[in-house]
Amino acid sequence: MTHGSFRVPSPVNEPVRDYAPGSAERASLRAELERQASEVVEIPLLIGGEEVRTGNTIDVVCPHDHGHVLARAHLAGPEETARAIEASIAARAEWADVPWEERAAVFLRCAELLAGPWRDRVNASTMLGQSKTCHQAEIDAACELIDFWRFNAFYAEELYAEQPESGPGMWNRLEHRPLDGFVFAITPFNFTSIAANLPTAPALVGNTAVWKPSDTALLSNWVTMQMMREAGLPDGVVNFVAGDGPTIGATAIADPRLAGIHFTGSTATFRTIWRQVAENIDRYGQYPRIVGETGGKDFVFAHPSADVPSLAVALVRGAFEYQGQKCSAASRAYVPRSLWGELSELLVEMTRELRMGDPADFTNFLGAVIDARAFAKHRDALAAAQADPAVEVLVGGGCDDSVGYFVEPTILVASDPSYDTMRRELFGPILTVWVYDDAQLDEAVAQCANGSEYALTGAIFARDRLVIRKLTHDLRFAAGNFYVNDKPTGAVVGQQPFGGSRASGTNDKAGSMLNLQRWVSARTIKETF
Ligand code: GLU
Repeated sequence: MTHGSFRVPSPVNEPVRDYAPGSAERASLRAELERQASEVVEIPLLIGGEEVRTGNTIDVVCPHDHGHVLARAHLAGPEETARAIEASIAARAEWADVPWEERAAVFLRCAELLAGPWRDRVNASTMLGQSKTCHQAEIDAACELIDFWRFNAFYAEELYAEQPESGPGMWNRLEHRPLDGFVFAITPFNFTSIAANLPTAPALVGNTAVWKPSDTALLSNWVTMQMMREAGLPDGVVNFVAGDGPTIGATAIADPRLAGIHFTGSTATFRTIWRQVAENIDRYGQYPRIVGETGGKDFVFAHPSADVPSLAVALVRGAFEYQGQKCSAASRAYVPRSLWGELSELLVEMTRELRMGDPADFTNFLGAVIDARAFAKHRDALAAAQADPAVEVLVGGGCDDSVGYFVEPTILVASDPSYDTMRRELFGPILTVWVYDDAQLDEAVAQCANGSEYALTGAIFARDRLVIRKLTHDLRFAAGNFYVNDKPTGAVVGQQPFGGSRASGTNDKAGSMLNLQRWVSARTIKETF
């Protein structure tokens, strides 16, 4: 495919390293983990290329060892937020005019730094600060982020190449301008890749951003920010302002130059943002683009023709990898009674084998949940389930926050398909199963289709082709990412564009041209000769 005068390098997905026991890769990552664990990093704000220390700091702790302070982070207030907005607007003048290939080159360099010399630093900071296992850090902070940058450059090329028809005596052109203002990126703790992608995807197509990272991912996010500086990202293109969300949000959202919001986080926060945008609508110079990926209550639906061993693997991996703290995590399952005997035995056996603890011990499958608030939410949900005669705790059910915020991988069996944890997003390692009578298949499908306000991911398990076809159709509005005979997590950039609808977001598919399109405002130019 050729268009334009340049072509970006063909994007390839970064291969996932396995850090096998005894390998040089593992030794190098371990050394970096030890180095980072032995220091307390000072994290400033970064405004217009200047490191700003406000003196108002928080301790960034390790979730699996909460007495261990990893960093002290300076927090922004309204004044620093206002400065970050000014810095974005000032940088925009030049950045918007830089040829897109040169902007792409910055992010392609970011990708190569991350694929090589920065990989251990970014992975180790994600393992320590967000309690990810080595594999979970690798597929997020290394591979997915590299992929975002490589594939977005390719999608940008496609986007810029899109041009209308012209004819003799007339030339029609589309100019893909950046938005007319700054982009406000509010990012989550659970994926370092998403945190870095939210300000940089708009920046690739000429915007500048104020980046408000999550308080509980500051270590990896700051390391990533430093890597971007090393890659040559000009000052002010991405301004890093940690701090209280409502405080920073109030200043950013009230600014007339707000041109876009790129958000991943909770549904409740996203709704608050929409309300604030509505309140400020008369102040803006444009209608801000609002792109958000929010909550999920993701399903696995098993048909009686399902293959039980692969269903069990999908449930355990889908529900418990990264402690279930993925928007895509399997958290409600619908299983026919005819399969339940064999499946429940397998689930108990597999779940009991999962090791939980410090991710620096490479044999652990789970780390801790992110913070005290997440821990309390899970502790309360488990206590309520244990006290409810309509719920059976099939496996797990324990939790312990004496050293870290540990919640056991837990499977609940609810007799009511609309039981609290079949509907409410917990964002942790709790899977709730509803066992349906095989004769009530249609009712079970309807429960799955309408049992949640969310529609992010979902998976079906069936062998029968006509069944696969019917379930795919009947559940078509229940998920933006739909998996047939696979777990509902682990979307890969360039392969499964990611996003959902209903209460799960605006479905502007992260890592796709659709997403980049939201950050440009095209000008149509007709010239007559
Ligand atoms: N893209 C991730 C996946 O497919 C989930 C992203 C999220 O949790 O926000 O598992």
